[in-house]
Amino acid sequence: MRTRLVNLRVPADVATGNGPDTVPADILIEGEKIAAVARVDERPGEAGERRIDLQDQLVIPGAVDGHVHFDDPGFTHRENFASGTRSAAAGGVTCVVDMPCTSLPPVTCRANLEAKLAVIEPKAHVDFMLWGGVSANSMDQPDWIAGLEQVVSEGVGAIKVYMLSGMETFRDLEADRIEEVLRETRRLGIPVGVHAEDRGLVLALTERLISEGANTPLDYADSRPAAGEVSAVSTLRDLCRRTGARVHVVHVGAGEALDIIASAHGEGLPLSGETCPHFLEFTREDLAAQGALLKTAPVVKTDADRERLWLGIANGDIQHVATDHAAGEWPGEKHTGSIWTDYGGVPGVELLLPYLYSEGYRKGRIGLARLVELVASAPASFFGVDSRKGALAPGFDADLAVIDEDASWTVSSEDMHNLNRYTPFEGRTLTGRVTATFVRGTRVFNRGAEGRETFGPPGFGRRVKRETMVSP
Ligand SMILES: [Zn+2]
Repeated sequence: MRTRLVNLRVPADVATGNGPDTVPADILIEGEKIAAVARVDERPGEAGERRIDLQDQLVIPGAVDGHVHFDDPGFTHRENFASGTRSAAAGGVTCVVDMPCTSLPPVTCRANLEAKLAVIEPKAHVDFMLWGGVSANSMDQPDWIAGLEQVVSEGVGAIKVYMLSGMETFRDLEADRIEEVLRETRRLGIPVGVHAEDRGLVLALTERLISEGANTPLDYADSRPAAGEVSAVSTLRDLCRRTGARVHVVHVGAGEALDIIASAHGEGLPLSGETCPHFLEFTREDLAAQGALLKTAPVVKTDADRERLWLGIANGDIQHVATDHAAGEWPGEKHTGSIWTDYGGVPGVELLLPYLYSEGYRKGRIGLARLVELVASAPASFFGVDSRKGALAPGFDADLAVIDEDASWTVSSEDMHNLNRYTPFEGRTLTGRVTATFVRGTRVFNRGAEGRETFGPPGFGRRVKRETMVSP
């Protein structure tokens, strides 16, 4: 089956320098792969070739959201793989990488991974990868290394650990145990993603604030200061020095923590970081105004932190952007009567690409090529699938996001597609809207001119395995 997408624009080759950001092109798809991205071709279609006119819209590689919690199986009152991947499709995300810790059983060995796959595979609207994980729970078992080896051989994208976890089923690790994990992951050639907050500091502050009767959103913010991220990330830098393991700090919120990552990178250490749209957009003042709706861990910080993160987005200190999509049951779990027990997390997979397109590219903070790196090619590379995901090039999966660059629209939770619909971005006006999403050459989402939305069938999305290992 040959499909020719016509009347569209693609990002200009950066090598051409100061020309326009986009160039007209055709995209020829054979089966599931891109066969060619060609300058406008006026030849009539070959017999049997299907033509799709994209009406001069922009086409970029589908986004890879490297950090989602779709909670399936186990916590499906919060999210499930069908609703989560529908939301992804509607936002131009063609591959998600699901966390190992917010489903049951956690993905710490082959049997657990297979149990999860059996549940989620029939539900997936877009392609997906899995994170594996190591927790205090799994390390308490004598065969934890065998479990780690199993999930790595099953093709997980990376391994997740926590320095501070609120989950009884996936407890955090002390630095010496993380070092043990890093020695194994270095041997196995797989990167480790770390939730980096200083456990001792945060728990002490939390205990003190609660004992004083503090119970406002800003009290919560005070319990998780920038110093908590800074201390944890410097510990990771030391562990990285000692082990040489590839370490990635997930959801960096503090500018000073990013400074440490940048300087570690400068000294040649394999340490990187990601951030999320909510850290780029919101501050403590927004948390005070929005309350638990914007509660996340780490927590949003100050304008200076936002500015440092945007600088890192532009200059490469931030490797890629992910959402940490984590929806609580709405409204109940977000309104428990105490900021300490309100659910921490926001859904976000649907806004990743629209947010960065609008607030990054269209506001002149980053170029179009950098946008594509941040949401597609850099995460594809991190998860070892950059020979088939993350680029508009022959031989790559035909994973595409189609963007109407002229559309201006207002974010509304009612229009979202995940299970529990709320968003701190409610009411924001964004420029540029995803109107169609293709996964391996098949349209899995379409937003018609009259606003009618159609989705592909669940189960179309396939598991993708890590292909390239980290070389020592
Ligand atoms: Zn997370």
